[in-house]
Amino acid sequence: MSQAAQISNQTRRWQEMDARHHMHPFSDQAALAKKGARVITHAEGIYLYDSNGHKILDGMSGLWCVQVGYGRQELADAGYKALKELPYYNTFFQTTNPYTAELGERLAKITPDGMDRFFFANSGSEANDSMVKIIRYFWSLQGKPEKKVFISRKQAYHGVTMTAASLSGISAMHPQAGLPLPNHVHIDHPDWYGYGGESDPEEFGVRIAQKLEEKILELGAENVAAFVAEPVQGAGGLIIPPKSYWPEINRICKKYDILLHADEVICGFGRTGNWFGSHTYGIQPDTMAMAKGMTSGYQPLSAVALGPRVGDALYNAGEEWSHGFTYSGHPVACAVALANLDVMEKENLVEKAGGEIGTYFQKKLQELADHPIIGQVRGVGLLGAMELVKDKKTRERFEGDTGTLCRDHCFNNDLVMRAIGNTMVLSPPLVITKDEIDTLFTQARLALDLTAKDLGAA
Ligand SMILES: *Cc1c(COP(=O)(O)O)cnc(C)c1O
Repeated sequence: MSQAAQISNQTRRWQEMDARHHMHPFSDQAALAKKGARVITHAEGIYLYDSNGHKILDGMSGLWCVQVGYGRQELADAGYKALKELPYYNTFFQTTNPYTAELGERLAKITPDGMDRFFFANSGSEANDSMVKIIRYFWSLQGKPEKKVFISRKQAYHGVTMTAASLSGISAMHPQAGLPLPNHVHIDHPDWYGYGGESDPEEFGVRIAQKLEEKILELGAENVAAFVAEPVQGAGGLIIPPKSYWPEINRICKKYDILLHADEVICGFGRTGNWFGSHTYGIQPDTMAMAKGMTSGYQPLSAVALGPRVGDALYNAGEEWSHGFTYSGHPVACAVALANLDVMEKENLVEKAGGEIGTYFQKKLQELADHPIIGQVRGVGLLGAMELVKDKKTRERFEGDTGTLCRDHCFNNDLVMRAIGNTMVLSPPLVITKDEIDTLFTQARLALDLTAKDLGAA
């Protein structure tokens, strides 16, 4: 058998095993099984390699998380060392470990002032789920146990556990499990391109923020626990708020004594050009969730950061806090997170995302604005989105699933760009160079041209 035939046989075997036994997240199982999943075997820098030898530029950093790129020896070494020295021990039995202790201190230095206490979990969903328990407990300690309602936004993504999916506002996430749970409500989100029409974006930002005030008044502030939001909405379509939005949200939360939880799972660790999205947008959160970029995805790890108000209340509760995971503060995950922070700091990745590299990425993104099927481009730091439209003036969309069509053209031409409805999204590794950004946008333009041709718009 030739080598090529052997490779393709091996790929088919993996695809068959996978199709038979592996339930894929957010996928039509039978449809995917029929097509066969692409088998990713290794990765280096900003590139993925599949089992058939294709080299694919990962314009999404995996799932928005591989800040330092793939194949970093420093992270592998740190994980290996921890695996040998202390592969596991819990943090329940009045015990800690060097990695977890050091990571808390490092996080306190880069998070907004006053965020000094961290609870560790294993995923963004668990962090947000834990946050809901923490905030309910906080209000109970304040003698206000009736403050139980969590207000979040349409198109929000906060994860998939029962509670995190209830916080999420992507409507397709609810019906299969009969969600949202009680005490979860959703308000409008600041999608100016989708809903702002002819209005001034800044005026629109204030108007949408005031939906929070209206909802609080409707529910009664005495019943509302917190407002929960991503600084930039990610999985819901990369919605970048007008500048006026967050200051108004800060004001409203303070006025009605509603806690503010920033879900920094995507925006954290440099993605928007500062350590956290809260820095970029002047958000004043009481608590934050972080995950993804915390380890660049090399290990599962998340945290809930607590500001002084919530942190001190739990710290001084005078009783045992009934919460925690077997793997909370996992030594290997924390060791990898520390090595990840070392790389980010040594290579100035946050400064680059907010400076030279981010600026260059945004410039190249802007150059796509004149493409015949693009109605708007928007971005911040190393995040970028493009709206696919039939008519630039009226923002009218094409019939059918244009996003998927474009995504498939990307994938077939060795670029990962994500489609969210009619929005194409980019979130490349923070280590991307200018030359690699050029390559990325050359590939993106090719995929857009092919999409336009299919749609008869070229
Ligand atoms: C990915 C994501 C989550 C969920 O994280 P998981 O690790 O997949 O549970 C939560 N919030 C935001 C903003 C996310 O992007």
